[in-house]
Amino acid sequence: MSSIRFKALQEAISRQPVDVELPSNKVSEFFGTNVFSYEVMQKYLSEGVLKTLKAAIENNMPIDRPTADEVAIAMKTWALEKGVTHYTHWFQPLTGATAEKHDVFLDVSPDGKVMEKFSGGQLVQQEPDASSFPSGGIRSTFEARGYTGWDPSSPAFIFGKTLCIPTIYISYTGEALDYKTPLLKALHALNNAAVPVCNYFDKNVKKVVATLGWEQEYFLVDEAMFNVRPDLVHSGRALFGANPAKGQQLEDHYFGSIPERVNEYMRDFETESYKLGIPLKTRHNEVAPNQYEVAPIFEEVNIAVDHNQLLMDLMDKIARRHHLKVLFYEKPFAGVNGSGKHNNWSMATDTGVNLLSPGKTPDSNLQFLTFFVNTIKAVHDYSDILRASIASAGNEHRLGANEAPPAIISVFIGEQLTKVLDGFEKKVKAEKSSGKKSLKLDIGHIPELMLDNTDRNRTSPFAFTGNKFEFRAVGSSANCAQSMLVLNTIVAEQLTRFKKDVDALVNKSTTTEEAIVQVLRSYITASANIRFEGNNYSEEWVKEAARRGLPNVQTTPQALEALLTDKALKLFENQGIFTKREQHARHEIQAEMYTKKIQIESRIMADMALTQIIPAALKYQNMVIDNVRGIKEIFTPSRAFAGVEVKDKALAESMNDGRYEDIADSQIAMIKEISERVSIIRNRTEQMIEERKKANKIEDTTDKAYAYCDKVKPCFDEIRYHADKLELLIDDSIWPFPKYRELLFIK
Ligand code: ADP
Ligand code: MG
Repeated sequence: MSSIRFKALQEAISRQPVDVELPSNKVSEFFGTNVFSYEVMQKYLSEGVLKTLKAAIENNMPIDRPTADEVAIAMKTWALEKGVTHYTHWFQPLTGATAEKHDVFLDVSPDGKVMEKFSGGQLVQQEPDASSFPSGGIRSTFEARGYTGWDPSSPAFIFGKTLCIPTIYISYTGEALDYKTPLLKALHALNNAAVPVCNYFDKNVKKVVATLGWEQEYFLVDEAMFNVRPDLVHSGRALFGANPAKGQQLEDHYFGSIPERVNEYMRDFETESYKLGIPLKTRHNEVAPNQYEVAPIFEEVNIAVDHNQLLMDLMDKIARRHHLKVLFYEKPFAGVNGSGKHNNWSMATDTGVNLLSPGKTPDSNLQFLTFFVNTIKAVHDYSDILRASIASAGNEHRLGANEAPPAIISVFIGEQLTKVLDGFEKKVKAEKSSGKKSLKLDIGHIPELMLDNTDRNRTSPFAFTGNKFEFRAVGSSANCAQSMLVLNTIVAEQLTRFKKDVDALVNKSTTTEEAIVQVLRSYITASANIRFEGNNYSEEWVKEAARRGLPNVQTTPQALEALLTDKALKLFENQGIFTKREQHARHEIQAEMYTKKIQIESRIMADMALTQIIPAALKYQNMVIDNVRGIKEIFTPSRAFAGVEVKDKALAESMNDGRYEDIADSQIAMIKEISERVSIIRNRTEQMIEERKKANKIEDTTDKAYAYCDKVKPCFDEIRYHADKLELLIDDSIWPFPKYRELLFIK
């Protein structure tokens, strides 16, 4: 066996679960111990400062310097007591990872005295040397100024020996260079739009927050095997690999028992998460071998997003202790289910009402219907922008594959609510035509059992699941902020419009309730074609969606174009999320990211094909050639069989004829097959390299992304197809890297 594969296998097979020392006390006793939480603040801050800080966070107001100074001192004191030495502004640049630059809590005074120091100024703002983060042309490298600014609404936390302060990241000229800045703006916009609508029903509502509960799927592979697969190391996915004999077809992995090693790993990262205040709730196996899921209890969106980013980082780091590698890539193994990150989303008031929870009384039901219908209408009107929010090189493999929601955006609401909406639409229509002035709405009994509704449609990209919507098309490696900022922005825009529409009618002497009902009815009609209750994986739906005129955008470059339409530019500008310049920059960054990912994959593919797979194939071919040569030698009658009596007549004849080809015919066929496949792999690889060279010359980012998508990427399939066939043909002991069956099973 190739020595590196052999060593990796040996290593992986001999692994024992890592015994980590976990706290023996209850989770509630160590939950949040590494968070600068409200309870900690109560201990370390004066009452006045605490009050000012709390009010500022709640009302989204700036924090004055004296307050910041006091908070900084409190943070420092708390952190030093816990053995922390450094602090960092923790932010989410558009690379997809989190970024941090650590500074030590140290200062030297003019008289040479060394002491620990951390001031309000250092808490509030930093200027990381961040010239290499993507900015889409907003910040050219020679004016590399970017600033991080404290986000007091997400609590600081201790990671290792470092105090991490969640921050936004903006350019010198104030443009967003990260995920958090526009997300906070979108949440603010949602609040501004939703509160007045809530006030139709309840004057006491002063604040609306969006809530998010994500479900993170991931794969685990043994570290030793991961390390000898250049494709996994450099692109996060297996670019080659034939399907294993036992894949997921037995469906015995889903909810099956979790292997001991994996279990230890889970307990380890869960414990660390709890200390960081991440409220993890569930863990289980997923459909594919080695695939798992973890989900927390939902939180306010901004915090939920930070927690997801933090968890991904944590999972990656802690996997090392267990000699595991965690893969967040959307489709690491072709032929096996991919990974998503369902975004469960709702809105809640400061009076404690979940706005997407059907209530018990007609009044609360009308409020529910208002938010429910407006969300559907928003998805209907901006489905292209929502589709763009989940577009990435990785997710491209997943969307539309028969396991994940299709690239067609639609909304599932379930049978009961379909009836409610249909009834609502018709009833109101009927009542109106009968000329009655006051409407008696028979919407008092929207069943509460929606929560346990079992006819959940798991194939829908955007499904109502009882008291929240579940956006399922989000990719597993994505920062949730991307989809969340879009969803909250479009709902904010829709609610703003709703308020206008209702008020316009009220001004024409209709009652508020009547106006709400009328407007909702018109929305139900107008957005009907985005609703789909059937199987989203089916061919019929693809046809039906086309008939309805719903877009089915398969590729990332095409999906991203939705970001630059007039509609999109206006939307983001209206809601104060992005300027046109920022929006163009975002598009540029995403298109470039796509190009880079495909470019890297293509390079590794060529490398592995030419320097690992073809040599292995030729080595095996030589073995077979030797074999044929031997047969020829043996079955040449004049030599080996001279004087030997052969009983089988036909065989004797063929030997006497010297027709060793008949005896060696399957070997000869193998020699030919190897040559054919090797030649196709070589040619296609060269063609791919040529296409890459052409694409690299293209200046325009969008055109370049298209070239990578349409010209470079299609070469992957044929190269892989033949390489995978070779894997199934040639001597297992020669194959240069671990196969699926070795990668995908952890004992
Ligand atoms: P599954 O979809 O796998 O059945 P669950 O229904 O248990 O999962 O819930 C998935 C996620 O939805 C959890 O993180 C849960 O906290 C979250 N969730 C529940 N209610 C809300 C809500 N009002 N807003 C946002 N997320 C919610
Ligand atoms: Mg779910």
